[in-house]
Amino acid sequence: MVADGRIGVRIPRKQAKVSGHGQASRPGDVHEGDEGMPEYPLEPGRNGMEQLGRALLEQAIGFVQSLAERPADGTAAGGGELGDVVRDMLMPPPAAPGDLAELLERVQRAMGLAVETAGAGYFGYIPGGGLFASAVADVWARAANRYVGIAGFAPGLAAMEHSVVRWFCQVLGLPAESGGGLLVSGGSMANFSAVVAARHAQLGEEMARGALYLTEHAHHSLGKAARLAGLPANSVRTVPCTPDLRMDVDAAAALIAADRAAGQKPFLLVASAGTTNTGTVDPLLEMAALAAQEGLWFHVDGAYGGLFRLTERGRARLQGIELADSVTLDPHKSLFLPYGTGALAVRDGDRLRAAHAVSGHYLQDLEADRDVPDFADLGLELSRELRGLRVWLPLHLYGTAAFRAALDEKLDLAEMAYRRLAAESLLEVPWAPDLSVVAFRLRRVKAGVSDAAIDAANRRLLARINASQRVFLSSTVVDGRVTLRLCILSHRTHAAHVREAVDIIVSAARATAAEG
Ligand SMILES: *Cc1c(COP(=O)(O)O)cnc(C)c1O
Repeated sequence: MVADGRIGVRIPRKQAKVSGHGQASRPGDVHEGDEGMPEYPLEPGRNGMEQLGRALLEQAIGFVQSLAERPADGTAAGGGELGDVVRDMLMPPPAAPGDLAELLERVQRAMGLAVETAGAGYFGYIPGGGLFASAVADVWARAANRYVGIAGFAPGLAAMEHSVVRWFCQVLGLPAESGGGLLVSGGSMANFSAVVAARHAQLGEEMARGALYLTEHAHHSLGKAARLAGLPANSVRTVPCTPDLRMDVDAAAALIAADRAAGQKPFLLVASAGTTNTGTVDPLLEMAALAAQEGLWFHVDGAYGGLFRLTERGRARLQGIELADSVTLDPHKSLFLPYGTGALAVRDGDRLRAAHAVSGHYLQDLEADRDVPDFADLGLELSRELRGLRVWLPLHLYGTAAFRAALDEKLDLAEMAYRRLAAESLLEVPWAPDLSVVAFRLRRVKAGVSDAAIDAANRRLLARINASQRVFLSSTVVDGRVTLRLCILSHRTHAAHVREAVDIIVSAARATAAEG
C-alpha cells in the first residue's frame, strides 16, 4: 500500500475538531449568534485560529517527519486508490460547514497520492526543495496579506524583496547600481519577462522579423515565452551543439549572419546555465562576446544552475554569467525554497521597467518610490503575493554560507555518482557533470542490437529503478537516444541517499541487461 498518505501523520482529532462553528468563545472571540453559529464564520477568533493553526502545523511537521518512510512515487499504487482520491477531490464544496478533522484526512490522502517531490529520493526533472522556514514564513506573509506590487504600500517589505533580488545580482556579478529584477512564480515567468524585455529593448514595435537563438537543449519555456511575447514561430532559431551538448558559437554566428542577410532582425541570444537535460552550461563567455559584437540581448537561463555561482566550482563553470543582460533563477530549485519562487535578475532595471510599465487611472494615488522599485512595473503581475519573506527569512536565519555548503555538497554528490556509474561496464555515462545532473544509459553490449531496442531497454531500466520506490528518476532524449538522468538538488539529499540511488541503478541495470 504505497499511496497511504497517512504514513507517520496522526490527525489530532481533538484539537482538529474545528469547523466553521462551535469553537469555544472567550473575550475577544467572535460572538456567536442565536443558533450557535458565529456571526462571521470567515473570521475565527483567537481560539479558532490556534486550533486551526495547530492542526495544520501538526500536519506539516508530521509530513516532513514521515518523509524517510514515504514511497518515492505515491501515485504508483494500484487498488483504485487513485480514482477514489481524485473523485473525492473533484467534489464541489458544500453550502454548510465541514468538519476539519475529516477534511484534513481527505487532504492527507491527496498529499500521499503524489510523486514525493519533497523527499531525499527525488532525482527527477529538477528537484525542488521546500524549506520548512519558508513554509511557515508564508503563513505569516499570507495572514498579513501585504501588498508589495507598489513599494509605497509596504516599503519595508518591498525593500525586503528588493534586497533579495540585489543579493541575487551580487551573486551573479551583475552591477549593483543599475541591476535589478523581481521575484516571480518560477523560471517560466522569468524567461517570459526576459524575452519581453529583450524584444522591447531591441525590436520596439517591429517584432515580425525578430530572431532569437538557443539550442535544442534550452528549456521549452523559452519557446513558449517567445510565442506569448507575440513573436512568430520562426523567430526561434535552433543553433547546433558541439558534441559536449554546448551551443556551437561559430554556428550561432553563422546563423545570425545568414538571418541578417535574409532581412531578419536578430535580437536575443539565449544561453542555458545548466540545461534541464544534462545540467550542461553553454559557453557563456564566448556567447556574451558574440552577443556584444552583434548587438544582441544576452539572456542566461540559470533556473536550474545559476545559483551554483555561490560555490567556488560553480563560479568557475558559470564564468560569463556576469555579462548577461538578464538571468533567470529558480530559488525553488537551487535555493531549496517551496514552489512558486522564481526570480529574474537584470543588468539594467530601467530596461525591464520600460518593457513592462503601463499605468491605469485607478493607480493615480500611488507615487513611485525612488529607492525601491514598484514590482508591478517590472513584471506581469499587479496583485502579487509577498514572496520576499520566504526567501529573506531562511537567508538571514541560516546565513548564506549554509546555502553555499549545501550546493557544494550537491556538486560533490554528483561527482561521486558520476564516478560510480561510469565504473559500471553496462552503463555509458557520456558527459561528466558540469553541475549536479548525471546522465547515463545502458550501453550497447552486443553488436547488432538496434537503437530502438536499446531505447526500449532504457525505458525498462527507468521503470525498474523507480519501482524500487526509494528513488524517482526521469528520462529524456539526448542525441536521439533515451537517456536517464539523476539530478541531485534537494536540500534533503545527502551521501547515503546518493549511494543508495547508485546501488539501485546498478542492480537495475544488471537485471535489465540480463533480460537480453
Ligand atoms: C525549471 C526550469 C525552467 C522553468 O522554470 P519553472 O520554475 O518550472 O517555471 C526554465 N529553465 C530551466 C533551465 C529550468 O530548469
